[in-house]
Amino acid sequence: MKIENNKAITLNYTLKDDQGEILDQSNNASFIYLHGAQNIIPGLEDSLTGRVKDDKFDLVIKPEDAYGEYNSKITQVVDRSMFDTDEANEIQVGMQFQSQSEDGAMMIITVSEINGDKVTIDGNHPLAGITLHYNVHVVDVRDATEEEISHGHIHAHGESCGH
Ligand code: ZN
Repeated sequence: MKIENNKAITLNYTLKDDQGEILDQSNNASFIYLHGAQNIIPGLEDSLTGRVKDDKFDLVIKPEDAYGEYNSKITQVVDRSMFDTDEANEIQVGMQFQSQSEDGAMMIITVSEINGDKVTIDGNHPLAGITLHYNVHVVDVRDATEEEISHGHIHAHGESCGH
């Protein structure tokens, strides 16, 4: 069975950056997605189209086909008092928060720098601007269920998502 739209694909993968550092890894066939539903980055999805179970291959994906170029315009310096945290939950570099962008979309912001009471927050995806090196193993390809297709995502292990 070939990978095409409306198939459920199980992958093992290792993701590295240009320096060979491992950024992410899925080795126990726990990663499963709905092909053609833009659940994964475009560069990876496009490269998987037409592959079959047991295929193994390497991929290099440029930022524009992954998490986008780094955009310095979506960093912002805010006052520490903007954060309603208690002392046990002090603001630290690397902390992530959910936020809403001006157009209403949910985005993850990351604390990138702290200077006294000034906190720099960064709305870029942590992998923005990074060229991704994937080693991919197609573990399984199956037909997605009608419910999965109508929801636009996989229900792994028969879980319901509450939609
Ligand atoms: Zn669902």
